[in-house]
Amino acid sequence: MDIIKAPRGVRDILPDEAWKWAYVLETSRKVAGFFGYNEVHLPLFEHTELFSRGIGDSTDVVEKEMYTFLDRAGRSLTLRPELTASMVRCYLEHGMSKKVQPVKLWSAGPMFRYERPQKGRYRQFWQLDVEALGSEAPEVDLEIIAFAIYLFNALGLSNLEVVINSVGCPVCRPGYRDALKRYVGSNFDALCNTCQNRFERNPLRILDCKNERCREIMKDAPGIVDYLCVECSEHFKRVKEGMTILGINYKEDKNLVRGLDYYTKTAFEVLSGELGAQNAVCGGGRYDNLAETIGGPHVPGVGFAAGIERIVLTMEGQGCDFGQQPGIDVFIVTADDLAKNKALKLLYDLRREQISVDMDYTGKSIGSQLKTASNKEAKLACILGGVEIEKGVVTVKDLRKGSQSEVANDSFIDYVKANLAG
Ligand code: ATP
Ligand code: MG
Repeated sequence: MDIIKAPRGVRDILPDEAWKWAYVLETSRKVAGFFGYNEVHLPLFEHTELFSRGIGDSTDVVEKEMYTFLDRAGRSLTLRPELTASMVRCYLEHGMSKKVQPVKLWSAGPMFRYERPQKGRYRQFWQLDVEALGSEAPEVDLEIIAFAIYLFNALGLSNLEVVINSVGCPVCRPGYRDALKRYVGSNFDALCNTCQNRFERNPLRILDCKNERCREIMKDAPGIVDYLCVECSEHFKRVKEGMTILGINYKEDKNLVRGLDYYTKTAFEVLSGELGAQNAVCGGGRYDNLAETIGGPHVPGVGFAAGIERIVLTMEGQGCDFGQQPGIDVFIVTADDLAKNKALKLLYDLRREQISVDMDYTGKSIGSQLKTASNKEAKLACILGGVEIEKGVVTVKDLRKGSQSEVANDSFIDYVKANLAG
């Protein structure tokens, strides 16, 4: 029988990589603290309607990418493809409009999308999701963009490009939609099949098409910025002023719309050249009408989601520092069963002192135990043989310096602590 493998598009994050993830997530947690965002844990699956209504039926995510299934009672559930709709549901369900606004939340965890797997694109991937709910203020959009930039700086990333646009609102978008359809209509036959289908249902999505020919055609398409109502235009201006005040470089891209229907006003992405075709490290924007589409009152919101795999890939590509890879400091080497009993005691004494320490349980020779100690990059090997037991000492070998000393049992813990600290 063949060994059962993991399904296509999902990956095991092994220890050699997981410590880098831990660094990214710990740094995100710290930045969230500085910015006043609180962590929430949300369910991995929700009612399918939450996403079909909240993200929009005519988006790639809902049309093609969702993992939807019936549970045993015949309810349609979906593994979350993103977190924004769940965050808004959570806000509504827990009456958070009574709290100080905006309510600032973050979460990190796996998302699921049925996509064609390739570098930086998986069927299960992690996102860091940051959302501010309950305020229309452009300074909140600014804070969300600044959060992403501050985080990426803290992680040591460079050469990132911030791209922004405004996608308007239900007041100004219909006028733009008409102008766009007029332009697209005159180029209709040259568009890819997908875009031809988008023409009636969601023409703005044509701006988002990855097809080279469509992109070329859309280069000269009218831009929504020229159609914004006064409110949207003022809002966009204020966000850009804020970016200038904070010294955040950005580029305006009139074709940046993002795939999701609920976005209003600000849309932004952070791009990295390191990632090839999957170049978006993070995407976000404002979604003032999402709460209503899922049956709630008007709750404006703005947020971003960043892909953890893509952050780690970019950091690796740029040779960024991930901090210290966890390892053990001390390895205890034993000669026989008597020594092993004593070693077990020392093992837990050291662990109680918050020293990372390990020993061999498989009865290897002293030589191969010492080899294990250096493979694990332990700083100290503490040897307990017959002689040591008799004399009441431990031989401590400093594997960094190659030096060796006999330490009396009573002073062993203090000696190890002092040695590791020094
Ligand atoms: P893309 O254009 O790459 O498909 P998207 O617009 O679908 O991105 P969003 O829905 O905005 O992406 O998700 C935010 C972030 O999540 C992306 O910028 C990316 O870093 C990450 N991401 C999205 N889909 C995947 C995936 N399938 N695998 C890995 N990371 C992903
Ligand atoms: Mg996508």
